[in-house]
Amino acid sequence: MSKPTPEVYERGRGMDAHNQVMRDIRAENDDSYDPHEPTRVWIDEDNTPDGVYQSLTIILNTGGCRWARAGGCTMCGYVAESVEGGSVSHEALMDQIQVALDHEAEEADEQSGLIKIYTSGSFLDEREVPAETRRAIAETFADRDRIVVESLPDFVDREKVRDFTEQGLETDVAVGLETATDRVRHDCVNKYFDFADFEDACAEAREAGGGVKAYLLMKPPFLSEQEALEDMQSSVRRCGAVDGCHTVSMNPCNVQRYTMVDELFYEGGYRPPWLWSVAEVLRTTTDVDAIVVSDPVGHGSDRGAHNCGECDDRVQRAIKDFDLRQDPSVFEQVECECEFTWELVLEEEQSFNTPLAR
Ligand code: SF4
Ligand SMILES: [Zn+2]
Repeated sequence: MSKPTPEVYERGRGMDAHNQVMRDIRAENDDSYDPHEPTRVWIDEDNTPDGVYQSLTIILNTGGCRWARAGGCTMCGYVAESVEGGSVSHEALMDQIQVALDHEAEEADEQSGLIKIYTSGSFLDEREVPAETRRAIAETFADRDRIVVESLPDFVDREKVRDFTEQGLETDVAVGLETATDRVRHDCVNKYFDFADFEDACAEAREAGGGVKAYLLMKPPFLSEQEALEDMQSSVRRCGAVDGCHTVSMNPCNVQRYTMVDELFYEGGYRPPWLWSVAEVLRTTTDVDAIVVSDPVGHGSDRGAHNCGECDDRVQRAIKDFDLRQDPSVFEQVECECEFTWELVLEEEQSFNTPLAR
């Protein structure tokens, strides 16, 4: 397997070329956002090693991901939502947390046991969230049971994770690994780190008494349906085998605005994965020693994982059911004629003729 070298980047190829294209695409966006408001807040239910919890999810609006500024990942439109100018003050970030707490008080009958904080970047990157803010947030949620914070592996170190575990919180770092295959991560996702960095991040989290939730991306651009399926099956297995990685969230790629995937989609060169493929990965990896879940965003639409239109809601319901129960028999109860089309796509689609069917 060839590995790109720095010289190749210098000639305007490899990651350098991906980054150049991504910067141009992102420059088309001129929306701006309020630094005192979180990007999104919602209440849901999640499966954790300690059972199912009501969860409060907060997408904090920070200065955005450093990597996205350089160009960033081919499917990621989150940076389009970040605050212009690159940094958000401690006070503004704490205002965002207050807005989230107010939302919870209004919407839910009780406090959520699980808090999940994402930043469209890395919560543990101190350029995005200063140490002072990280500690204040840990204190704010000290009366909850669990917390999840998102970070790229480079920023995961035991001292930062300890800020949360010392408050008595079960703490997980959510890492957007995308795939365990380095070549796919580099060439299809345009993400710069290696699987070995993910293993190091898991070890750091473990040292502080925390754990890791790996986020995988099913079907980045340039892979056929079959390649995407196999990539996820092997990635779920490899993640489950890493000490400290107790949950894998395997999510189908969806088409977000201002991304390379969006450009390909527009030109007819990309189709998000079939929901059958998502179900197949979940069904065939139940022996893995980790909770494996999936939350197909925009399911049933052209821009999200979809089947034929007739069965999408039923398959999605089975997936959500599987998330909470981890029981593969939920998939025996859904059938549709479009399974034959999906099987044909698996057999016949090659990366040069993708997508074979819409
Ligand atoms: S996926 Fe994560 S690392 Fe990649 S550009 Fe988006 S926020 Fe940054
Ligand atoms: Zn169908």
